[in-house]
Amino acid sequence: MLNFLWKITLLFIVSICIAACTESADYKRAAEKIDLENYTAHLQTLASDEFMGRAPSTPGGKKTIQYLKDEFTKLGLAPGNNGDFFQEVPLVSIVSTPESEMVVKGNGGEVRLPLGSGYVGLTRRMVDAVELENSEMVFAGYGIVAPEFGWDDYKDLDVKGKTVIVMVNDPGFATKDSSFFSGRTMTYYGRWTYKYEEAVRQGADGIIIIHETAPAGYPWFVVQSGWSGPEFYMVPEDRNMSRCKFEGWISGQSARKLFALAGQNYTELVVAASTSEHQSIELGLSYSLKLTNTIENSTSYNVLAMIPGTDLKDEIIIYTAHWDHFGVNPEIDGDNIFNGARDNATGTAALLSIAKGFKALDKPVRRSVLFMAVTAEEQGLLGSAYYAANPVYPLTKTAGVINMDALNIFGKMKDITVVGLGNSELDEYVEIAAKAQNRYIRPDPEPEKGLFFRSDHFSFAKQGVPAMYTKMGIDHITKSQEEILEASARWTSELYHKPGDEYDAATWDLTGTIEDLRLLFHVGYMLANESRFPNWYEGNAFKEKRDADMNNSSGN
Ligand SMILES: [Zn+2]
Repeated sequence: MLNFLWKITLLFIVSICIAACTESADYKRAAEKIDLENYTAHLQTLASDEFMGRAPSTPGGKKTIQYLKDEFTKLGLAPGNNGDFFQEVPLVSIVSTPESEMVVKGNGGEVRLPLGSGYVGLTRRMVDAVELENSEMVFAGYGIVAPEFGWDDYKDLDVKGKTVIVMVNDPGFATKDSSFFSGRTMTYYGRWTYKYEEAVRQGADGIIIIHETAPAGYPWFVVQSGWSGPEFYMVPEDRNMSRCKFEGWISGQSARKLFALAGQNYTELVVAASTSEHQSIELGLSYSLKLTNTIENSTSYNVLAMIPGTDLKDEIIIYTAHWDHFGVNPEIDGDNIFNGARDNATGTAALLSIAKGFKALDKPVRRSVLFMAVTAEEQGLLGSAYYAANPVYPLTKTAGVINMDALNIFGKMKDITVVGLGNSELDEYVEIAAKAQNRYIRPDPEPEKGLFFRSDHFSFAKQGVPAMYTKMGIDHITKSQEEILEASARWTSELYHKPGDEYDAATWDLTGTIEDLRLLFHVGYMLANESRFPNWYEGNAFKEKRDADMNNSSGN
């Protein structure tokens, strides 16, 4: 009898192993279909001048979504939006033109800040023009109200009808104290979006953020190019009339001039701003400014392609990457096409490569897999936010989101970065997939840049859906970490959001990208073959919403 049982058990073990091994052989063979040649071809096409920088609602944008539809069709994927590959995203574009100079007046005279090099800004209000007249300037530290840290930069301050001047990032960046505003890791309070929202709550008419390269995480050029030309929005119900009249930035150099005019010591105020000594003060300065707008309605599209699952096909996992970039800027002499090769032809091409991997499986996965190339990321994550607010598949049936944006171009790494490591159980899948490649996972080496808030996974996280975002590792197989960090920093300062972000066969090494794509394929493969719904970790800000939504949906 014992002997018989033992045989049965043995048979059982052997059959599990056969199933598992066959499965892993199937997975491994499919993963190899994610190949360098095919990936590079897609990337080069999307980053070519013919695609004219892939701006939403332009011929280059149309060409891009058509290319994606054609390539997904060739791979045998199904349309992902009720028979359609496209999801319409209604947008409004506003070209907001401020005056060529901002003239700031004080008792000691005036300071003139030229548009572009000295200041940039816009109004989001959908009106033909807005005007600020002798708006008083108030310095409000980081512009943060955070009761959980006992912090209020607006305490005892009346900013109604005035303009607040605030610093970029949060006090934790300056103190590096991890118990205080997460230390070097940027909190949402550090993002400019938060600061503009808070200024509205405080009743300010205008808000100006002081740019400094280190705490911002990018140079002034990025602000300058990002805050000129058309800005896109989802069609706002209140026509943005609740926003501040003016939302702008000044360079660090301009700030020094303004504070000098006000008779204030800028350096001292900046240092004090992250301590209990922080002081918000009336600067005794004022300025007048007029902005004129050109408003247009337009439509852009998310591209959705689907591989239906088997027994759990009502549940989905989603791969996202934004297809859009900045298009062409006719005001620039010479090369004026923003090819966005790394940002984000690398991620867009990755969608096609990973789809190819899933299609190569002999045994299709259990859950459906949705590949979503989203629009208008560069305009504030608009395409992904639109989908998350108008999902084609219920978010409570969406097990997880894997986002790809600006991938590794520096070669093979022993590690991979998980942005926001410790947020959700998706970390565990990345860890398993990394181990399978003899690699390891690491937290973001530059958490002060707030990357978790800066790409499309965040649109899903805000709606509670566990969403993950990996970036390249820094532990190169032959080069030192310093070399890689240096190369990466150089790329950011010289090429990020510039026409020079082009595919370069001579310097780009995409072999590490292919490894990362196979790793992300593995993550999705595991996620799509199980019935578990990974969640945010206890204490994470997004968990409450997810739990409530999941409870509501399972109750029906
Ligand atoms: Zn990007």
